[in-house]
Amino acid sequence: MASFLKKFKNFFAQPSSYQADNFIRIAVKCKRCGEEISVGLRKTSDFSRVYEDDEAPSGSSFMIRKEILGSKCNNLIYLTIFFDESFRIISKEIEGGEFL
Ligand SMILES: [Zn+2]
Repeated sequence: MASFLKKFKNFFAQPSSYQADNFIRIAVKCKRCGEEISVGLRKTSDFSRVYEDDEAPSGSSFMIRKEILGSKCNNLIYLTIFFDESFRIISKEIEGGEFL
């Protein structure tokens, strides 16, 4: 988890234009403490290809599963999001928090 946090902070230290096309930003709110957290999802490494026999919404090509930890409490937020071929969101689920 420590390395994850380090990566997280490094991401915010970079100029916002840095590989912007490669990132999808998702803003969530922690259910426990209300902290608002912005997450950068990397198309090249965070996404998994969805295959037809997976239990996925029709039309989805990629999916992402991510655990998010804020800095104010230890509540883990779980994201599951499905995207189409153009990385548009088809469906999204969240546990431990809410989408902004
Ligand atoms: Zn929190």
